[in-house]
Amino acid sequence: MRHRRSVLLLLIAIVSSAWVRAEMPAPPKSCVFCEIAAGRLEPELVVYRDELVLAFMDIAPGNPGHVLVVPAVHADDIVAVPAATAQRMIVVAQCIARAIRRTELRAEGFNFILNAGRAAGQTVFHAHLHVVPRYDGDSGGHGDKPRRRLPSDELAPVAAKIRAAVGDELAVAPVAR
Ligand code: AMP
Ligand code: ZN
Repeated sequence: MRHRRSVLLLLIAIVSSAWVRAEMPAPPKSCVFCEIAAGRLEPELVVYRDELVLAFMDIAPGNPGHVLVVPAVHADDIVAVPAATAQRMIVVAQCIARAIRRTELRAEGFNFILNAGRAAGQTVFHAHLHVVPRYDGDSGGHGDKPRRRLPSDELAPVAAKIRAAVGDELAVAPVAR
């Protein structure tokens, strides 16, 4: 009798774990930002990472210093990002903006941009928060003008400067537990 009950409990555990897995959205087969998160693509452009998020240079910047903050685990857009990760994305974006102000980029303002869904202009379907440095009277920013894809060796020195500055900022904003 006891044996039959344990077999039954085991079966329930197996079925419910399969059900939970089926409920979790699978990441798409190829996602460029998952590749960056895994360290397989453009590692020299990553300026920050922790267990929830990472940040790296946008490859076609609206202005120099344009950074994307993304969840480490795939989510199609910001609407699908778990709350703690969404909060962390904002905190890290703030720290990156403060850090950029302290580099020679000397940004005067920033656009924090979230496009969610194709209809809203999203083109990469792994959630990302744009941090775009702005200057009085500039014509930069996201979507304001055609943007050119820059080679990695042009972006890497800017990434190194932001990475160094962001380290100090995030030392005072550890992950909330
Ligand atoms: P959105 O239009 O909000 O989906 O923005 C997607 C952004 O991802 C654009 O600004 C692209 O320039 C940027 N992007 C696309 N591929 C890469 C890549 N491999 N590395 C960094 N940024 C990228
Ligand atoms: Zn992804």
